[in-house]
Amino acid sequence: MYEAKKKNGNVSIIYSADLNGINDSLLMLETKLHHALENNTFELHYQPKITVETGKMEGMEALIRWTDEELGFVPPDQFIPFAEECGLIADIGEWVLTKAAMQAKRWNDQYNTNLRVAVNISPKHLAEQTFVERLQKIIEEVALDPNHLEIEITEMSMMDQNSDLIHKILKLKKMGITISIDDFGTGYSSLSYLKEFPIDALKIDRSFIQNISKEETGVAMVEAIIKIAHALNLAVVAEGVEEERELQILKNYSCEYVQGYYFSKPLNVTDFIHHIEKSLHPQN
Ligand code: C2E
Ligand code: CA
Ligand code: CA
Repeated sequence: MYEAKKKNGNVSIIYSADLNGINDSLLMLETKLHHALENNTFELHYQPKITVETGKMEGMEALIRWTDEELGFVPPDQFIPFAEECGLIADIGEWVLTKAAMQAKRWNDQYNTNLRVAVNISPKHLAEQTFVERLQKIIEEVALDPNHLEIEITEMSMMDQNSDLIHKILKLKKMGITISIDDFGTGYSSLSYLKEFPIDALKIDRSFIQNISKEETGVAMVEAIIKIAHALNLAVVAEGVEEERELQILKNYSCEYVQGYYFSKPLNVTDFIHHIEKSLHPQN
């Protein structure tokens, strides 16, 4: 079932081999994720988001990291889909929200900055009935200014255009939270949700940025996405910017924010502090 779902559910995977073996390893993974939550062994890394016009850092995206004693480093795009399947995603998502909110609060207090932390929210977590109330509780407990929090939701979440989701997003917006659409351009082709939902920004998926140099139509695609966003009064964030040339093109089309290895990889807390200090004292 997991294998078939990974391939968008359009195939059937015929089972023949050792089902018990597969079940055992899935159970082991679930147990390990539970332990990681209980023992607080997940970590967050932070990647700067840069304002194109000024070159200054306006905030950072929190990205979860997990290193298991036996399995070693497990990338998030491997364990997050599994956590969604086994019902652990809301707990992991709340852990991430709490940790990221605490960190943003600490940095903004310490450095007198207005950095906004962006947290990735899985569609399954967002769909939970109590999502907004629980998020509000976390913000209150941490005493984070909601203007310092952004949530990134994928196009997939928006496809389920029910009024419940619109209400949730309206509530988050009223609280002062910024909403952006992640991996824009990789979901389904319906764009109608963009005008229905009160969102702030589109994040152009990394694959489009990579295509700037790879394909003749690459630049045209990026230009088109930026134009759609601006026509709808949405800001644009380009992710996965690795080269000067990509930055120049994005600048020419008035993309507001950029993120990527060209500026910095996601960093642990200690290394990220150097970034904050550098942006406060750029001459050093
Ligand atoms: P995403 O939200 O699209 O995050 C961007 C991914 O691109 C990150 O991978 C980041 O490390 C990577 N990246 C950033 N700049 C560059 C670049 O210039 N070049 C290249 N090649 N890669 C770049 P990461 O951290 O492995 O995360 C993968 C995905 O896992 C994320 O994609 C997101 O969908 C998910 N994820 C990560 N952390 C969380 C989390 O806390 N909660 C949830 N629900 N999902 C998460
Ligand atoms: Ca993201
Ligand atoms: Ca992406």
